[in-house]
Amino acid sequence: MSAVETVLGRVDAGELGLTLAHEHVRFRDEAVAENWPGRYDAEAELAAALAAVNAAKGHGVRTIVDPTAMFGGRDVRFMRRVADETGVRIVPCTGIYTYDFLPHYFENRDEDMIAAHFVEDIERGVQGTEIKAAFLKCAADAAGVTPNVEKVHRACARASMRTGAPIMAHSMPSVGTGPRQLEIFLEEGVAPEKIQIAHCGDSADVDYIEGLLAQGVYVGLDRYGLEMYLPIDQRNAVAAELLRRGHAERVMISQDFCATIDWFPPEAVAQIETSGGIRNWSMTLVFEEVVPRLREQGVMDDKAFETVFVHNPARWLGR
Ligand SMILES: [Zn+2]
Repeated sequence: MSAVETVLGRVDAGELGLTLAHEHVRFRDEAVAENWPGRYDAEAELAAALAAVNAAKGHGVRTIVDPTAMFGGRDVRFMRRVADETGVRIVPCTGIYTYDFLPHYFENRDEDMIAAHFVEDIERGVQGTEIKAAFLKCAADAAGVTPNVEKVHRACARASMRTGAPIMAHSMPSVGTGPRQLEIFLEEGVAPEKIQIAHCGDSADVDYIEGLLAQGVYVGLDRYGLEMYLPIDQRNAVAAELLRRGHAERVMISQDFCATIDWFPPEAVAQIETSGGIRNWSMTLVFEEVVPRLREQGVMDDKAFETVFVHNPARWLGR
């Protein structure tokens, strides 16, 4: 039986239950938070995380995959507190969330030296705890696959090859990063079924997504509520078409919700909300406005629901 590391310890993959494949219990810049802690309200952050996770739990969610890596303020002790207080498991990662920038520390170390950091998180524990990382995270965005981004991808791939841990790659379909990200992983020898290309659901181009699926990877339809990238009706149309074409076994559906996020000052958040850039973004939107639409269209019966929300995350994570 394959197993998965969570912040509450190792569990059989078959015990994960209903799983959200991509959510963040907190997202913030660790350098800013370290230098100006007074800018953050720790109690409010915890309360928001507990509220979001408990709401998901109300829909039967038993496990949340949280791909918060370096530069997203990864904090496995905070994750464990949320898991302890909600009873919902959280699956942590290792990796670097950058669209290009690397600190001199990593700029002057090669792929194998970076990979050794990730392997340590997977095999020994994260941030001085016994909590082990379950998967690897990297990112490519508007800048494309820059040399630094490629370096992080290769480091993730090498750590995956050494440990068997799967990889999640943030992608940006509007600039077509997915195929090159996948190519790098495959060049390094990673098996396609270990790879999840996140944020494919930001694209209305089903053929683009199918091009990735054809190579055997998982794709994330995982930003429901982020209307600025693609409105929900179009997201649902893409999901329905992929299910209709028989891809249920390679699709992850989630929201990329951040219980708190420090990217914008409050007035900018209000502006994004009133302009419709985000709508009903939460850890429950997919159960309220996605699964019901897919069921109505006859593309998601109970079996497909289990495949997407139970078996796919377990199969991708289990090792
Ligand atoms: Zn994310």
